[in-house]
Amino acid sequence: MYASAATMQASRNTALSKNEAMNTNAQAPQKSPATALCEPCSGIQRHWRKAPGHAELVQGTHSREDRGNGQASFTRYRCDRCGAAWEYENNKANQHAGWALLSH
Ligand SMILES: [Zn+2]
Repeated sequence: MYASAATMQASRNTALSKNEAMNTNAQAPQKSPATALCEPCSGIQRHWRKAPGHAELVQGTHSREDRGNGQASFTRYRCDRCGAAWEYENNKANQHAGWALLSH
């Protein structure tokens, strides 16, 4: 009797990995603001705890957020003189929480 040995054919599939270049759509170019911040606004020290605002800021909405490391509260302001929108973050745990310019 003759026993035929089964030959194993190992076929190797090389998976071709597709290199897909992700092209993120470039955003529309932002217009540089024609008007500059007014003098008191440009003098505000940003991202620094307890930095003062200025007298012409009008207080807007107020909100609170739990940041895990403590409560942060946010107050929106709008400058009466130049129209800049500011947000003041009060957070005891963050020395760099303070004024942030939202839009102008
Ligand atoms: Zn201003």
